[in-house]
Amino acid sequence: MLHLSVTELAAELSRGAFSSVELTRACLDRIRQRNPRLNAFITVCEESALAEAAGADRARARGDTRPLLGIPLAHKDIFCTRGLPTTCGSRMLRHFLPPYDAGVVEKLREAGAVLLGKTNMDEFAMGSSNETSFFGPVCNPHDPDKVPGGSSGGSAAAVAGGLCPMATGTDTGGSIRQPASFCGITGFKPSYGRVSRWGMIAFASSLDQAGTLTRTAADAALMMQAMAGLDPRDSTSVDRPVEDYAGEAGVSLRGLRVGVPLPHFTEGLSAGVEQGVRAALGELEKAGAELIDIDLPNNYLSVPAYYVVAPAEASANLSRYDGVRYGYRCEEPKDLEDLYTRTRSEGFGEEVKRRILVGTYALSAGYYDAYYVKAQRIRRLIRRDFARAFAKVDVIAGPTSPHVAFAHGAKADPVEMYLEDIFTIAVNLAGLPAISVPAGHDRGLPFGLHIIGPDFSEARVLGVAHQFQQLTDWHLQLPRDTHLSPTSPGHPPFRTPEDTHHSRNAREGAS
Ligand code: GLN
Repeated sequence: MLHLSVTELAAELSRGAFSSVELTRACLDRIRQRNPRLNAFITVCEESALAEAAGADRARARGDTRPLLGIPLAHKDIFCTRGLPTTCGSRMLRHFLPPYDAGVVEKLREAGAVLLGKTNMDEFAMGSSNETSFFGPVCNPHDPDKVPGGSSGGSAAAVAGGLCPMATGTDTGGSIRQPASFCGITGFKPSYGRVSRWGMIAFASSLDQAGTLTRTAADAALMMQAMAGLDPRDSTSVDRPVEDYAGEAGVSLRGLRVGVPLPHFTEGLSAGVEQGVRAALGELEKAGAELIDIDLPNNYLSVPAYYVVAPAEASANLSRYDGVRYGYRCEEPKDLEDLYTRTRSEGFGEEVKRRILVGTYALSAGYYDAYYVKAQRIRRLIRRDFARAFAKVDVIAGPTSPHVAFAHGAKADPVEMYLEDIFTIAVNLAGLPAISVPAGHDRGLPFGLHIIGPDFSEARVLGVAHQFQQLTDWHLQLPRDTHLSPTSPGHPPFRTPEDTHHSRNAREGAS
């Protein structure tokens, strides 16, 4: 049952092929078996998951038919979960037990999903490879020597590896779509404001948005139906009716105008991915879509603009981790200055510190206009380019990432890592919805087709992605061993909520 999509699992549960307890047990066994290698989960809540599953089975017996009832779920460890460790991949929050659930967590709980645990991620969601996590790197289920992408790499690896059928992620510059591309699954980022950011640990508040990691676009629609909507506790949450996200599942590709941005097919794109993406676009064309060349003239400025805006916002958001209120505190500080300095030096990893330095510099008097204000202007130009393009086309399509997953340690230069998001970042700067769907393999590893829509066109983007998945079967090509039934459990390889002091981190003790 572990290779089934959420949609299929929901159908099987409702016809009684197995119970939610059985399904949840299968996921927990699979986590025990695979997590020691993949390191996709930071925390697993076995007992509460089984209790929630039993509750879901009872509700179903009483006639409850909610679509996500009893379906196992994992949350990226950036979402606050009441009484359950929420680390954000950082030593700073290693022992943090939030007193409340994030909006997204509440909504998926209300939808009846069963929480299996929390997934690994780049520290504070800063990264594209999941190598910046305090809890150690995550491995790609298609090839454990390769990274899963990031920052939602734990969620992507968990879904791709058959550890859970659906997971949440967050996307500030590509962190859902790029790992989805690397792991051969479907990753959806909604429009900014569509999903509540309340209780989602802030990285760059004007860019952060929660979304989904699933096998199929139809599954993403089911999750989105539960997650979307106004939350008065998040002032950027949008007050507009939630569409029927499966409503355009039957959309015809005939006559659909698909914009193909030429800058997306230039330097840096590997030959295999380029060929594969052209073939994917060819599939859309064969089904009647019209491919139209478009220009996004300011796109090339998206990475530099992002690396001013995102660190600037991060430097402000992360100032709260001072060792006084919550989170890590250094041992025996001499005075207040020493408390701040050592807490932050020891609690944050290298990449997070780099961002804080860059952001603080960009916001400092004398540099603010030269960097921050300029970056915001570029952001407006990028948004305008998209608006102009969407006057001519219904969606825009291209590669999600320039290449397939790379080896651990292959990108030591931070700027090289920043260029990973060259195709995804503009979408965050403009606040648009976009999805990555599996579209091919290059050298045995998956890559994604990136489909972008205008503001709040979630249903259309999901519908086009669903139609693409009716024409292709890349989303069904799971890592080699995913069909195997779980073997007998060994030692629990994961942290349990009761065991918050235990960590398997290789960097333990490092400052
Ligand atoms: N890789 C980008 C970064 O490091 C985007 C991360 C994200 O979307 N959270 O900032």
